[in-house]
Amino acid sequence: MIIGQIIVRESANGGGELRHRDDLKCADGELTLHTDPEDAVGLALYDDAGAYRPLKTAPNLRHGWRMVLADGAAARLALDSFYPGRRGAFAAFQAGRLHPTPLRETLGRQTGMYRVTQKITEEQIDALVGSFCRSDGGCLRTILWKRDTAGAAPSSLLPSEKFDPTHDQSGQTREQFASFVPLLCQEACNLLVAKARAVVKGKSSSGKE
Ligand code: SF4
Repeated sequence: MIIGQIIVRESANGGGELRHRDDLKCADGELTLHTDPEDAVGLALYDDAGAYRPLKTAPNLRHGWRMVLADGAAARLALDSFYPGRRGAFAAFQAGRLHPTPLRETLGRQTGMYRVTQKITEEQIDALVGSFCRSDGGCLRTILWKRDTAGAAPSSLLPSEKFDPTHDQSGQTREQFASFVPLLCQEACNLLVAKARAVVKGKSSSGKE
């Protein structure tokens, strides 16, 4: 199975083995072994350069590790630390119970210092979402939400695949893997809202600092 930048396979002990997709061809001995699913919390915190990862679905998961876990329950626990809430969101999506929230509605709910995000213009949304949410360097989630209740696209700068749950946002091949779990985005995250505030306040033009 593939989820984000992680491959999950059956391990020799009958449990599950997780590793970075880029490390698929690495010999086991080249990778640091973890057997506690809670180690995923630490592995997800920093990228290869040691920089904090505020967005867990950013395409910068660190390399060089493998997790050999006792059973499926342990594998699920680890995946929920790497990608919080994403397995559950996909299950809800498959059951027809995932209801995306339009961006304007998310911004309309903001209070306090984030209320100002309601003033963001259409052009600013287009640039911000197109830059901040892009899969190559931004975020690996598949966007399900619309810009507004009229159904406007979140950004004209993103390819149609960014909104397709069957598409692998990593851009890597997944032919040899039977199942694939997309990282779905049903509502704009707090980081995007914070960037929207910066744009409106004139501190950023497109979400980049
Ligand atoms: S709004 Fe969704 S797609 Fe965009 S950065 Fe946040 S989690 Fe990723």
